[in-house]
Amino acid sequence: MDPASGHDAVADVAVENGRIVAIGPDLDATGFEVFDATGMIVAPGFIDMHVHLREPGFEHSETIETGGRAAAAGGFTSVCCMPNTNPVNDSAVVTTYIIERARRLSPVSVFPIGAITKGSQGEELASIGAMKQAGIVAISDDGRPVMNARVMRRAMESAKAFGLPVINHCEDLNLSAGGDMHEGFESVRMGLRGIPACSEDVMVARDILLAEVTGAKYHVAHISARHSVEMVRYAKARGLNVTTEVCPHHFTLADSDILPFDSNYKMKPPLRSCFDVEAVTEGLASGAIEVIATDHAPHPGSEKMQEFERCPFGITGLETAIGLSLEQLVHKGRVSLMRMIEMFTVNPDRILTLGKGRLTVGGEADITIFDTDRKWTFDLNKSQSKSRNTPFHGREFRGGQVASIVAGKIVWQLG
Ligand SMILES: [Zn+2]
Ligand SMILES: [Zn+2]
Repeated sequence: MDPASGHDAVADVAVENGRIVAIGPDLDATGFEVFDATGMIVAPGFIDMHVHLREPGFEHSETIETGGRAAAAGGFTSVCCMPNTNPVNDSAVVTTYIIERARRLSPVSVFPIGAITKGSQGEELASIGAMKQAGIVAISDDGRPVMNARVMRRAMESAKAFGLPVINHCEDLNLSAGGDMHEGFESVRMGLRGIPACSEDVMVARDILLAEVTGAKYHVAHISARHSVEMVRYAKARGLNVTTEVCPHHFTLADSDILPFDSNYKMKPPLRSCFDVEAVTEGLASGAIEVIATDHAPHPGSEKMQEFERCPFGITGLETAIGLSLEQLVHKGRVSLMRMIEMFTVNPDRILTLGKGRLTVGGEADITIFDTDRKWTFDLNKSQSKSRNTPFHGREFRGGQVASIVAGKIVWQLG
């Protein structure tokens, strides 16, 4: 199944020297090593455009190598890593470091995202042009959003000149200050401080207006609130170059699913109300949201296993993304299988221009193989990630990743 071409048929895919050389029924396999994918889906290699690999600086949480392995084990062949490392990826030196490490150690392709501002401090623009030369595919101050609208406007103008999209973690830090979970009935019931949905909405609104003024390519990271989805719809109706992504946990869980004081349910944006869960699911179904990204955010147990109010935000997500997407979107009949694949392949590629996400003869052989009916259980003790912070341990799935192929090489396969 290849959403870019609409190809949907039982066929063989022949790979030679890292490239796809033929796609068609009953190809002659003489002299080829054969991977039997009977009854499975063969798709373009999945792209996760939002992960945290934690290197350099936080190698006790994850490294480019372990994060790359977790990506491969999740069915991904390419990932884009956020710049909130130490040092922050705000210069060509750090960008080059990440690319060089990834080339040597990661089984999947790694595309760095550069910071918008120096040190992600929100004040002075980072070396965007030099980072673009070094290989970044977008800019973002994920986790520390640019609060100053004037700086954001300049960033959009600069990004437009360099042909880069601006990705923003939409959170008004004044509105969300001190919050631990979504503000509502559940936060009151649990006695935890709330992060209101409007802290996301006001920044989505601000950025959409700035995207119109500047003509920049703008992408909302991990959308979670229903008014934000409405505003992205508004931007699209006005013909703006505005796109967005949603994380599997935001279309799977609501604030009412949080196990009391279990810090594995703490992330930003927080799990929102069931109305928001429905709104993001509907957004995926209707096309308002075009990408599924994990926001894989590893933290070691020593940091995550604290009181809910004290532990850091974020959960891992690479290895449960396909299972959750099949469960919530395809098996429930909300989204077709072809559309689900599109949101992991050609859609992120259209935003970032990676040259990936398609199954074409002559193209690079990045391939994801998965099935849709096999029953399996996610065991975090078998995770390839260095960290274990996920609320999905023990969850039973129907269908999941079977193999990941990068440039013709099988980098991970089931069992
Ligand atoms: Zn974020
Ligand atoms: Zn993030």
